[in-house]
Amino acid sequence: MSFDPARFRALFPIFAAAPADGPALHYLDSGASAQVPQLVIDAVARHDSTARANVKRGVHRLAEAATEAYETARLSAARYLNAPSPREVIFTGGTTGAINLVARAHGDLLGEGDEVLVSMLEHHSNIVPWQLLQTRRGIRLSVIPATADGRLDLDRLDELVTPRTRLIAVTHCSNVTGAVTDLARIVAAARAVGAKVLVDGAQRAPHGPIDVQALGVDFYAFSGHKAFGPNGIGVLWGRGELLEAMPPFMGGGEMISHVSFAGSSWAPIPNKFEAGTPPIAQAVGLGAALDWLSEQDWPAILANEMRLTGRILDGLATIPGCRILGPGGLQQRLGVISFALDGLHPHDVCQFVDATHGVALRGGHHCAQPLMESCGLVGTVRASLAPYNDDGDVDALLDGLAHAVRQLR
Ligand code: PMP
Repeated sequence: MSFDPARFRALFPIFAAAPADGPALHYLDSGASAQVPQLVIDAVARHDSTARANVKRGVHRLAEAATEAYETARLSAARYLNAPSPREVIFTGGTTGAINLVARAHGDLLGEGDEVLVSMLEHHSNIVPWQLLQTRRGIRLSVIPATADGRLDLDRLDELVTPRTRLIAVTHCSNVTGAVTDLARIVAAARAVGAKVLVDGAQRAPHGPIDVQALGVDFYAFSGHKAFGPNGIGVLWGRGELLEAMPPFMGGGEMISHVSFAGSSWAPIPNKFEAGTPPIAQAVGLGAALDWLSEQDWPAILANEMRLTGRILDGLATIPGCRILGPGGLQQRLGVISFALDGLHPHDVCQFVDATHGVALRGGHHCAQPLMESCGLVGTVRASLAPYNDDGDVDALLDGLAHAVRQLR
């Protein structure tokens, strides 16, 4: 195996399309949504043009082909996560849908005084569902603080984990600081009190296959659109016995075993959690993306990502009044790089570098307002890398930022 960034990039049609006006595209916003390779576009189109039908219930050939394609995608997701069984893989609308599913369904098993521990680094989608559960079931919500360099402050775990802790819900990689969580410490602390661990893998899953068994966690969530797949599809993996113990989250077709007005009973997992017609073509597209990702040379890809990350961090360090939010070192981080430029609003910076250098960045609070507030900021500029990024993208970014600072300050 080997990794050739130019060949990888050539698989993505968006980079071949010349922009109608302005500079060429330097896409550094993959943390928001990654681009899709042609093979994913083809898999979705092939499905829609040869096997489009509803799944699970049909008996005609096309319905059987659609069901097989959908269940094959489930197998691909199970393989990507090294899940013990595909029945533990539930297709959702995305990470948000997956976490809400757990907060609703597993949340129904929690009550007054039970504690859920989240962290200061969480995306709103791993905060608000637990706040809703707090209102609904009277749980207590506590927060692992962040360190000054944007990691989870795990030295505080011992005081925060109590005999009433039932669940620890943390990000695998921060969408703001890029810090990768030391899940082994979280799992050990959770196990000591019999708590479960949910991992928001939205930012980690696009950077190579996951091994949920080796991680020892209980739930793992991620989104298709960040992992080079279609929009509107995501994955929740959960331990079989936990999913089986959870009541359904949504009622409707296909999640039942039998319905009568005297009372209904539920289908086995995963169908119990997939009420209604699922996003079928999107699942097929995600399956194609995950199979393809599984074949990549991840050590080589990540080495290149860290090299580019190092170049960006070094370049930012030369800009006066630039504050980097994440870890300065390349250990325990991925290519998600947030920074604030003194005296400049993140939106102005993003608009400027897009218009002048074609660099697509994200500016704002990144759905992490508690973290922003704890840093005394309204927002940051964020560059996020994928394997299709190259030195030309980094040059355009650093050049664009130097121009922005000269022109806008
Ligand atoms: N968690 C993290 C860490 C994220 O970066 C995102 C997307 N910005 C989400 C959750 C939510 O993902 P989605 O909008 O695809 O549900």
